[in-house]
Amino acid sequence: MQTLLDHARSFHRQVADAGDTYRHLAEGQSPQALVISCSDSRVVPAHITGARPGQIFELRNAGNIVPPRWAADVSGEVATVEYALEVLGIRDVVVCGHSHCGAMSALASGGDLSLLPGVEAWLSLVRPALAPRATEEDGALERLVQLNVVHQLATLGTYPVVRRLLDADDLRLHGWYYRVDTGVLHELGDDGTFAAR
Ligand code: ZN
Repeated sequence: MQTLLDHARSFHRQVADAGDTYRHLAEGQSPQALVISCSDSRVVPAHITGARPGQIFELRNAGNIVPPRWAADVSGEVATVEYALEVLGIRDVVVCGHSHCGAMSALASGGDLSLLPGVEAWLSLVRPALAPRATEEDGALERLVQLNVVHQLATLGTYPVVRRLLDADDLRLHGWYYRVDTGVLHELGDDGTFAAR
């Protein structure tokens, strides 16, 4: 932690050396995309996309899950999506799953989560849709992660703001599967499969 803290404390020097680059950020933001990804430390959307501050709006949680709107009276996910689309005018939304995902592994294994009631409740949002599709076969976790991405895109489509923009052909949804060990990005195509492009 100390290295991270030292960097954060001295970061302002980099900002000062960057001239007007950061000063312009105070004038507002117009990010090109909303990226919904896992909280996993190995998946860093800005790192993968090469985005600079101000270029992507991020929403991160365990398993890159888009909760159904009925799931909670208060939802950071719902609020973030609404703000991104209605206020910032973002018109590209990415749901990015990844290899070696702990949340999806937990879902696939069906293991005991009694010590993690929050995780259990969170995964219960997708368990009915995904657990029946989970198997022990080779490549099963990869397929489960990809199915999860497709499922989250579908849930996103039930948010009123998303539905309205999709109906107006004014929003693009993207499904990604990112390999943390190779850096290869697999994109969801019109045929419903993920492939490196
Ligand atoms: Zn993950």
